[in-house]
Amino acid sequence: MDQTVRAGHDGADTVIAVDDLRMTYGTVEVLRGVSFAARRGEVIALLGPNGAGKTTTIEILEGFRLRSAGAVSVLGVDPANGTEDWRARLGIVLQSWRDHGRWRVRDLLAHFGEYYAPFASPQQKRPRDADELIAMVGLAEHAGKKIATLSGGQRRRLDVAIGLIGRPDLLFLDEPTTGFDPAARTGFHEVVQRLAGEESTTILLTTHDLAEAEKLASRILILAGGRIVADGSAAELSRRVSGQTEVRWTRAGEAFRHATPDATRFVRDLFAEHGDAIADLEVRRATLEDTYLTIVRQHDEGGEAAAVDAFEGAA
Ligand code: ADP
Repeated sequence: MDQTVRAGHDGADTVIAVDDLRMTYGTVEVLRGVSFAARRGEVIALLGPNGAGKTTTIEILEGFRLRSAGAVSVLGVDPANGTEDWRARLGIVLQSWRDHGRWRVRDLLAHFGEYYAPFASPQQKRPRDADELIAMVGLAEHAGKKIATLSGGQRRRLDVAIGLIGRPDLLFLDEPTTGFDPAARTGFHEVVQRLAGEESTTILLTTHDLAEAEKLASRILILAGGRIVADGSAAELSRRVSGQTEVRWTRAGEAFRHATPDATRFVRDLFAEHGDAIADLEVRRATLEDTYLTIVRQHDEGGEAAAVDAFEGAA
């Protein structure tokens, strides 16, 4: 457990550094050499099929689970030896706090907030002001209500607030928007963008909503077969995997579509040839969902070596 993390992953801005992480349950090796790093202010989505090991990875980073092998550094500390003041810099959004039903929203947040007060610094005021936070997550009208009376989506927003009350440097979000209606989801996305942008909070999230991952994450990691098989922005992964962009248009009422590696040039030529006759133009690169499914399928078909080769080969 005392291995040092490989140089190059360990810059001043590095918040998470994972090198050759392995985890075995019984005889089953679930993580087989996971390596990645996260810098300050990055929003990273960790994706992968059910059972891929996302929760295991996150629990190791949070210090809740002891790894079998490999080097891990979170905020400069090995989570296996994380102290209380290290833990106070993490925010963790877990499942709903169902057993706190009789507490009122503001009281519960203020109560949790007290834990963080000793860990305040001149740079980081801790805890966050409960009412400001309640407004930030869109619960202002419900601040005085008992938790048992909140809707599922409102409870989930409270979960997010609990993860934020200590003004964490690093925030773990596990399926954060499950049960959110579209307005709450948009509100939550604004909160994430504001935290990462204005406060340089580093955020690691898991989600099955690939449109959400594409919208929020500056980087996508795909975990499959116990390894990271893709690491890049949604646009990079899309370019590397498919290399094709679909262009759609209509001309004289007839619909056309064409897949091309260079949509800009294709559209320029299209207009040069047909000018004003072109209507309803759409340029659509592969969505993260398309890309994700391709990568996971390649992985399932050819083993991880083929998936990694395809990914790196196209890079
Ligand atoms: P994910 O979050 O990607 O769905 P998990 O990390 O929860 O994946 O699980 C990865 C694999 O490890 C699964 O096959 C799961 O059954 C197994 N697993 C998880 N936790 C334990 C445990 N405590 N003991 C034994 N096997 C486990």
